[in-house]
Amino acid sequence: MIQSKPIFYLLVNIYDEVNALVAIVDTSKCTGCETCVNECPASAIVIENEKAKVDKDMCVDCQTCVDVCPSEAILVE
Ligand code: SF4
Ligand code: SF4
Repeated sequence: MIQSKPIFYLLVNIYDEVNALVAIVDTSKCTGCETCVNECPASAIVIENEKAKVDKDMCVDCQTCVDVCPSEAILVE
């Protein structure tokens, strides 16, 4: 039983990793206005070629960018 607790947390971490959500940018809608870049609390968004790009390893799935984007160009899935 002593060994089962770390295994449980390992499985939870694997589950979280597999089910992790991440912000996705629809580049056809993105105007490169930088609103999401300025509002992302994790500094996970940069502008590349005038379009927002999310670093999925930094995104914490807070959905702030979804709420602030004036072009409805971001969704989290
Ligand atoms: S807020 Fe929306 S339109 Fe502006 S850069 Fe971000 S994704 Fe593009
Ligand atoms: S969901 Fe949150 S952390 Fe991820 S890119 Fe959008 S604002 Fe940043």
